Amino acid sequence: MRLSLRLTLLAGLSALPLFPAPAEKTLDFYTIDVEGGKSLLMVTPAGESLLVDAGWPASANRAASTGRILAALSGAGLKQLDYLLISHFDIDHLGDVPALAARFPIRHILDHGEPAAADRDRFNAYDEVRRKLGHTVLRPGDKLPLKGVDIEVVTSAGQLLSKPLKGAGAANPLCATHPQAAAIERDVEDDQSIGLLFRLGEFRMLDLADLEAHLSHELVCPANLLGTVDVYHVNVHGQFKGMAAELAGAIRPRVAIVGNGARKGGDPATWPILRATAGLEDIWQVHYSAAGSADTNPPPNFIANLEQSDRTLPGDEFAMIKLSVQADGTYTVSNTRNGFARSYRAGMAGGRIKP
Ligand SMILES: [Zn+2]
Repeated sequence: MRLSLRLTLLAGLSALPLFPAPAEKTLDFYTIDVEGGKSLLMVTPAGESLLVDAGWPASANRAASTGRILAALSGAGLKQLDYLLISHFDIDHLGDVPALAARFPIRHILDHGEPAAADRDRFNAYDEVRRKLGHTVLRPGDKLPLKGVDIEVVTSAGQLLSKPLKGAGAANPLCATHPQAAAIERDVEDDQSIGLLFRLGEFRMLDLADLEAHLSHELVCPANLLGTVDVYHVNVHGQFKGMAAELAGAIRPRVAIVGNGARKGGDPATWPILRATAGLEDIWQVHYSAAGSADTNPPPNFIANLEQSDRTLPGDEFAMIKLSVQADGTYTVSNTRNGFARSYRAGMAGGRIKP
C-alpha cells in the first residue's frame, strides 16, 4: 500500500526540482545488541565516528560480538572508525579488539589507562593493538576530539569531575533520602568506567558505562555536578548494582535506553526505580529481559529484540535502538526491528512530540 502510494507520488512530481535539498544530517547513536555487553556507535553529522566498547570476545558459551559490530559499522555506511573508546577493561566491553582492528580500519583508541582488574592475556592482546594504532588516556574534564558535537569526560579511572558542568551544581534534595550505596561488593574495574556527557545544541545525553551506584552517588550528591539530560543510557546494562535513584532523579531524563541482553542486565529490581524517575516518559531496551515479566519490561515496540534468549535468530539477525538528534534539538528514538519511532524535543520545556 505504502509502496504504491510512493510510486504514484513520484510519477506526479515531475514538475518539482530534480535535486531537492538533501535531508538534514543528524547525530546518530546505535545501541548494538551485544547480548548484555556494551557497544554504542555514534556517527556525527559530519560523518566522524566513535564506537564505545566492543562487546564480548568468543568464549565456550558465547560467540564474539565482533560480527555484529562490523554489521553495524557497515550498516551505518562507515569505511573506517575514527575513535574506538574502551570504557573499562571488563570482558563484556573489551571484546575482541584485535579481531575488530584486523577487519575494520580504526584510527585511534581512547581509554582510561591501566586496568584495575582484567583478564591479563586479553588485556595484553588489546594493549598491543592500542600501541600500534596510538591511544589517548582520558580524564574527567577532557573533551573528545570530534568536531560538531561536544563530548565531555565526567568520570575515568575512578576519578570524577571536580567541579560542576556549566549550568549545573544545584543541591540535590534526593541525597537526603538516598544514602550512598555500600561499596563492599563493587567490581573495581566497573568503577574505572569512562563516563560521557554528549551535547548537540540543546540536546544532552549521559552514558556512564558500568559506573556503579556507589560512585554515581558522588556525581550528584550533595550537589548535582551534571545538570539535567534528555537521554540517559542506563548504567551497567540496567543491572541493579548500577541503579542510583538519586542520580536518575537529579538528571531528569525524558528517555532511558537500556543496553541489556536476554539474560544479562535489565534486572527486574531496576525497573520500578527507573520507571518512577520524575519526568521520564519512555524506557527503550535492546532486549526483552527474560528474568522479568511484562510488568518489568517496556511494551514490545520499545524492545529491539524480543527473543527470550540470545542468538536465536537464523543468520545472526539482530535489531538495534537508534537515536537520531537534529540540530534544532528534536530527537527521535526508533526500533530497527519494526521501524517504530517516537520523537521528543530537547530541553526542560521539551518532551514527547505528540503525533
Ligand atoms: Zn558491563
